[in-house]
Amino acid sequence: MTTTIIDVRSDTLTKPTQSMRLAMSEAHVGDDVYGEDPTINRLQDYIADLFGKESALFVPTGVMGNQLAIAVHTQRGDEIIVESESHIFHYETAAPALIAGVQMYCIPSHKGEMSLDGIKEAIRPPVYYFPKTSLICIEQTHNRHGGTVLPLDYMQSLYAFAQEHNLPIHCDGARIWNACAATNIEPYEYGKYADTLSVCLSKGLGAPIGSVLIGSKDHIEQARHWRKVLGGGMRQAGILAAAGLHAIEHHRSMLHEDHEKAALFASLITQGSQCIIANSSGNVESTIVIIDCGEHVKPSDIQEMCAQKSLFLSMGKGRCLRAVFHRDISMDMIPTAAEIFCSSYRLLENLSS
Ligand SMILES: *Cc1c(COP(=O)(O)O)cnc(C)c1O
Repeated sequence: MTTTIIDVRSDTLTKPTQSMRLAMSEAHVGDDVYGEDPTINRLQDYIADLFGKESALFVPTGVMGNQLAIAVHTQRGDEIIVESESHIFHYETAAPALIAGVQMYCIPSHKGEMSLDGIKEAIRPPVYYFPKTSLICIEQTHNRHGGTVLPLDYMQSLYAFAQEHNLPIHCDGARIWNACAATNIEPYEYGKYADTLSVCLSKGLGAPIGSVLIGSKDHIEQARHWRKVLGGGMRQAGILAAAGLHAIEHHRSMLHEDHEKAALFASLITQGSQCIIANSSGNVESTIVIIDCGEHVKPSDIQEMCAQKSLFLSMGKGRCLRAVFHRDISMDMIPTAAEIFCSSYRLLENLSS
């Protein structure tokens, strides 16, 4: 008997389906540096439309989407406001310093929602020896807080506040599709409260590559220039855009199932072990489960023991492990995954006592 591999280290691990590969092989293509790839153009128009914006730009990665947005909204020597646990701050290799030439001012938050008072204090007064604050970044859903969803009314009040202070908002919406799935709020509603958004096709949606930066015509024209600067001007990339279009058309409506898998896993492991769910909101809002393993069991030991039984988890902060559910994990694998986790946990707990 072959054991099933249950790999929940990330939602980036999904592999393209046969029908997605077929759609890719049949894509009409052209040279996108000339603006002549019909499939790229169709994807960009479609996504701009979904989010209620004028224009959009296909980029290879979410990091590039975020960094193009930062470059577009700022001047060298400026400062941008980001959340302390944000992807932009932790996982983008200090790129804002390298590419746009700006520094980051980090504000801690409750589950990704920076307080308006906190932001107000962070905005620099116009004195010559201060950097100029020029952008606020938010993250939807919030990765390190455990897939938490920024409420629409929070985004609305933040946007109004930012407008009062003449500051644009960039939304790192790598998993904004999951926010839509969790709330049944349409993308264009979220689009109202950000000047630019970057959205991933290669996470829960299941495309092999690609993100899209969305914004005004002017912002996207500038972003196209910056994309070329970074060597991201691609040619017959419609083959990749076809995967993205296929993912949106065929996979997007299934995202809520990934949330159900995550919730079921969280509920089974809290029943069957002493661990607790450490998502910032205390519960599972989308696909990410952060597991606090407690004082007696080392997360790396559980991770290793689970891996021996083909359940792959990733390390989180401190005493935590992380699981992210996605379309290549079926609902009926969840009880098995939970059983592997709980039996490993109990064994290690007994060894330690
Ligand atoms: C994955 C992710 C990104 C982009 O990652 P890439 O690997 O560059 O596509 C950006 N922000 C968040 C919150 C993410 O989770």
